[in-house]
Amino acid sequence: MLSTAHHADVVIVGAGIAGLSAAHQLTSAGVTVSVLEAAPEVGGRMATEQIDGFRLDRTSQLLTTSHPELHRTAGLADAGMRTFSPGVLVHSAGRLQRTGETGSTRWGSPHALRSVGGAFTVARALASAPRPRQLDQARLGASLARLAATPVRRVLARPERPTADVLPARGLPPRTVHGFLRPLLSALLCDPELTTTSSRCADLALRGYARGRLCVPAGGAAALPQLLADGLPEGTVRTGVRVTDVSTTRVRTEELGEIHCRSVLVATGARAAAALLPGLRVPAFHPVTVLHHTAPAPPLTDPALILDADRSGPVAYTAVMSEVDPSRAPEGRVLISSTVLGAGAGAPAADLEDRVRDQLASVYGTPTDEWELLTVHHTPDAVPATPPPHDLRRPVRVLSGLYVCGDHRDTSTAQGALFSARRATHAILADFGIHWGYEPTPLPAAA
Ligand SMILES: Cc1cc2nc3c(=O)[nH]c(=O)nc-3n(C[C@H](O)[C@H](O)[C@H](O)COP(=O)(O)OP(=O)(O)OC[C@H]3O[C@@H](n4cnc5c(N)ncnc54)[C@H](O)[C@@H]3O)c2cc1C
Repeated sequence: MLSTAHHADVVIVGAGIAGLSAAHQLTSAGVTVSVLEAAPEVGGRMATEQIDGFRLDRTSQLLTTSHPELHRTAGLADAGMRTFSPGVLVHSAGRLQRTGETGSTRWGSPHALRSVGGAFTVARALASAPRPRQLDQARLGASLARLAATPVRRVLARPERPTADVLPARGLPPRTVHGFLRPLLSALLCDPELTTTSSRCADLALRGYARGRLCVPAGGAAALPQLLADGLPEGTVRTGVRVTDVSTTRVRTEELGEIHCRSVLVATGARAAAALLPGLRVPAFHPVTVLHHTAPAPPLTDPALILDADRSGPVAYTAVMSEVDPSRAPEGRVLISSTVLGAGAGAPAADLEDRVRDQLASVYGTPTDEWELLTVHHTPDAVPATPPPHDLRRPVRVLSGLYVCGDHRDTSTAQGALFSARRATHAILADFGIHWGYEPTPLPAAA
């Protein structure tokens, strides 16, 4: 097998989590790998910016502890995950209400709802709220528990439609659909209207939620790809190298000329993959904007994810991230991260910020005039849309010697990106004649 400065068995284009995870698995199987990344840093969309000691995600990445690939990906064994408190807090009609707790979220240390000096008292709001008949907690809990126990094959055997069309038929009261299912799925799928997401993706996302706990990587989203990169042999990843052309036996780059290899794996986002592999479809994308504020005091000391069910402003969900993951803010400082989805994302920052401040004042029940905006991140091509029919296992083998992976081959999530890397690794190794322990199980075709 080849192993010189400019040659490797497999050249991987792109050092996002998909490319880095594939690199890990291939090197573990004894294959030499060179990962070429156009940007100055690894991580792709899982990027974290450092400003004045704050660690600010571009993505406001929401993962669940039940994502199988977080556990199976060898290079992520040491990844620290910070969990949100069980369930979610839903803001509706001026109240915050905890809902969506599942059997699997009740384990772990209970997070008491506490409030801080002068700020909105969530505990009081909860106490004064009418008993949650509206949200029918018991029925919701039972429904989530059933879903958690349902095998993936059975979940995927349901008819596939746009998510918004199937929600009313899920056997839950309209208030629960409005006050929990819709805002939660919008947040998990980055699709506020849920009209361009397959119900298959939504069912899988909800099943993942029901089986685990919402979480974020400790230290910021970039910690995951960095961990993967750090576990690779020195010199495997080259940043600042843009690939302009690929074939089965070489890649062409702007900076290093041609690099020869036995196989090429394109692990870029969907748009760049389609430029390198003509014939690949470019999907529509969901844009996402994340605003990071700091405040003189935490408006809430509960490490909860807050969903705004009434859509009283552009923010879909928000959290006091310094309570969820203290390493994201300097000692004693507060970090509040809020995510805008859909049409509001991408609005001029000045317009957006005023409306976001007003909304957050209402959600947290505290004035936000003294909050300071740390930064705004806008990503137009944040998440590929997955309208039905959506094949959850899009082909990763273009032809022998040329492969493709990334979230656009799967569920448009970090879990999907990692799983597509596993499938691509399997295809490459199978074509090399190397038996690798993993065999993909077939899924029912999209209908
Ligand atoms: C704002 C936002 C919010 C999100 N929220 C969530 C969420 O809540 N939950 C969730 O699971 N997922 C979420 N995601 C999606 C998740 O971040 C992605 O699914 C995942 O990071 C995709 O990883 P990837 O490796 O497939 O692609 P990428 O991270 O896009 O990596 C591709 C890499 O290829 C490089 N590249 C491109 N072209 C070239 C070239 N020609 N030559 C060399 N290198 C190239 C790029 O620079 C990039 O580093 C969100 C994403 C964004 C942006």
